[in-house]
Amino acid sequence: MDRALAYGARCYRFESCRARQIMKIDQIYMAEALKEAKRAFELDEVAVGAVIVYKRQIVARAHNQTKLLRDPTAHAEMVALTQAANFLKSERLLSCTLYVTIEPCPMCAGALIWARIKRLVFGAADPKAGACGSVMDILGEKKLNHRVSVAKGVLAEECGSLISEFFQKQRALGKK
Ligand SMILES: [Zn+2]
Repeated sequence: MDRALAYGARCYRFESCRARQIMKIDQIYMAEALKEAKRAFELDEVAVGAVIVYKRQIVARAHNQTKLLRDPTAHAEMVALTQAANFLKSERLLSCTLYVTIEPCPMCAGALIWARIKRLVFGAADPKAGACGSVMDILGEKKLNHRVSVAKGVLAEECGSLISEFFQKQRALGKK
């Protein structure tokens, strides 16, 4: 009995240790996505950044480019998905994790399913257009045949304040 308890305690410690480790790794990659979001901010694009990780290697890094490309689909996630697919020479990104500073919109959430992404980590929630739990929950839709594991709120404050600052700046300049 004592031994069982001790074993249980050890397992628990192991689990929480692993969870902490994953959280730390998530923060490291989210910091890379934030660098991309800051790049977008400087270029006057909506301040969202994304990276895709495959076997602990960043295989794509992108930010919003809708103005530069005059393309409403050029969200950070879409650009990153194309980059990763080219890098891995496959349209299926089965073992990849996508990190993005803001909760994906319906288009990007749909694209994550088409790409068969394994895991999504996002920073701040988007109460106006978020499709991963805020306005709707595409990745949680059980009728779709692909499951994406989702972690949210990683560096949420930094991610959220950058985009708020971006929209404040745009409003001040009379652009939005
Ligand atoms: Zn999007």
